[in-house]
Amino acid sequence: MKIFETHAHLDFGQFDKDRDKIIQKCRDNSIELIINVGVDKKTIKATINLAEKYEEIFAAVGYHPHDAKDLDLSFIKEKAKHPKVVAIGEIGLDYYRNLSPKDIQKKALIKQIKLAEEINLPIIIHDRNAHEDIFQILCEHKVKNAVFHCFSGDEILAEKVLEKGWFLSFTGIITYKNSHLENVVRMVPNDKFFVETDSPYLAPHPKRGKRNSPLNLRYIIEKIADIKRISPNQIAEYSFQNASQFFNLEL
Ligand SMILES: [Zn+2]
Repeated sequence: MKIFETHAHLDFGQFDKDRDKIIQKCRDNSIELIINVGVDKKTIKATINLAEKYEEIFAAVGYHPHDAKDLDLSFIKEKAKHPKVVAIGEIGLDYYRNLSPKDIQKKALIKQIKLAEEINLPIIIHDRNAHEDIFQILCEHKVKNAVFHCFSGDEILAEKVLEKGWFLSFTGIITYKNSHLENVVRMVPNDKFFVETDSPYLAPHPKRGKRNSPLNLRYIIEKIADIKRISPNQIAEYSFQNASQFFNLEL
């Protein structure tokens, strides 16, 4: 089984004590590719440093909706030229925490969508309690390549997202007892999803509440395999292929 971790924050402080060890362990456990995601100026710099240090780590750069008020578009544009930057993200709207005002979040999202279009990179979307506004903005701007990271919508939204040709990505929340995502996992076509941990957050059951790491991807893969009645190997393979295509990583 070869595994693609499509969304992690390994530069975050939670990994300061054992980052290199964890990344080595990922190698030993068939995690062959990792997308590390920067969310503001500091983490974008750290993400690119990690991508330079490790062959298997690639970078996504963007301002998270929490940090929308600090958006520095020319900084992202500059950093996106780096050969290991493969996506703009995570960008989006977060109406759950509203750490930046809504209108500022929307403006930052639109500016970054336009940049992604201009430089021809796919987009990683963060959508928390903002399904309708995000969907509308992506449609208005005719976005072609997007993934709904940590998909949290219902089957109706999933259907609409899939119709547009966009991808769904699943985290450990699909393993939680109160998860409402089982039907979405069941309906998503095999060529339209991938897996991610969003480490250090969202550790899957039975590790819930602990620090997450890409090493826990297998719990997410097993859950999808269980729901879809397909082998875990095959699920890992689908996810690997879909993500390689999405991030344009020829292997
Ligand atoms: Zn994230």
